[in-house]
Amino acid sequence: MPGKSETIKAAVIGHPVAHSLSPLIHAHWIGQYGLHGSYEALDIAPDNLVAGVQELVDGGYTGFNVTIPHKQAIMKLCAEIDETAQAIGAVNTVKIDGAGRLYGRNTDAFGFIENIVQTAPDFDFTSGPALIFGAGGAARALAYGLKQRGVPEIRITNRTREKAEELAADFDLDVIDWDDREAAMEGVDLLVNSTALGMTGKPPLTVSLGVLPETALVCDIVYKPLMTDLLAQAQARSNPVVTGLGMLLHQARPAFEGWFGMLPEVTPGLQQKAQEAAR
Ligand code: NAP
Repeated sequence: MPGKSETIKAAVIGHPVAHSLSPLIHAHWIGQYGLHGSYEALDIAPDNLVAGVQELVDGGYTGFNVTIPHKQAIMKLCAEIDETAQAIGAVNTVKIDGAGRLYGRNTDAFGFIENIVQTAPDFDFTSGPALIFGAGGAARALAYGLKQRGVPEIRITNRTREKAEELAADFDLDVIDWDDREAAMEGVDLLVNSTALGMTGKPPLTVSLGVLPETALVCDIVYKPLMTDLLAQAQARSNPVVTGLGMLLHQARPAFEGWFGMLPEVTPGLQQKAQEAAR
């Protein structure tokens, strides 16, 4: 662990990046644990990625988070990429070593799984099928995380079927037509929305939970609003639910650990702060 007097510089790079909650999360932990450090949001346009990252290396940064649209492009700049990030095909966390080499990781799958483990500790990943709505960047991390946890059958459905098929080929999933998304809920133990639907400013996710078992855990990784229509509908029929903000908070923990040398906790205080900022 770095000495308490050592100042550690970290950042999140993206374009746009002003909306990112990462500075709030990391600043909270720096303050909570009394560390000397900083964490900034840096807007770097795609054309400027190589030069922008070099500035971080030259500026003595310990590492940085990577958000849209750089999660794939950053991979080409990394000297090493861990197995998880390779499987997911995206890097969201980078550590810079003393020689200026970049080490890429992906903590999104950890964040997704850890959020479920902490919120619904009795949920057994191996007990039955899961159904994922969506096949975008986030869905890859979800599929990877669920596979790692031993989910016996993973169904995936997406408006653009080809994208679901690509993901299914990589992670051995069962593709369901988007039009059949309601029937696909039959017998599942876990339903997760990873589409952008239901997010503030996006169209609603129109779906009836009719055939979904009442014991199935329902997760939404959309966290704006925190209680999406999907979760509200699930809760009204007594399904246990997991909101999306926790995924964001938990994915930040291993990144912080990589830079500051300690695994921070997601406390109710941090949750509250992030929830207010996400509104
Ligand atoms: P993405 O790569 O752009 O994928 C978007 C997904 O939404 C695709 O599956 C897309 O389907 C679907 N979609 C968009 N508009 C749709 C519509 N009108 N009808 C049906 N499907 C539609 O985005 P992403 O990175 O995977 O993120 C998806 C959501 O998860 C976002 O809301 C994001 O904020 C959230 N997220 C949360 C966390 C967290 O930590 N909680 C982490 C990452 C992402 P098509 O393939 O057909 O376009």
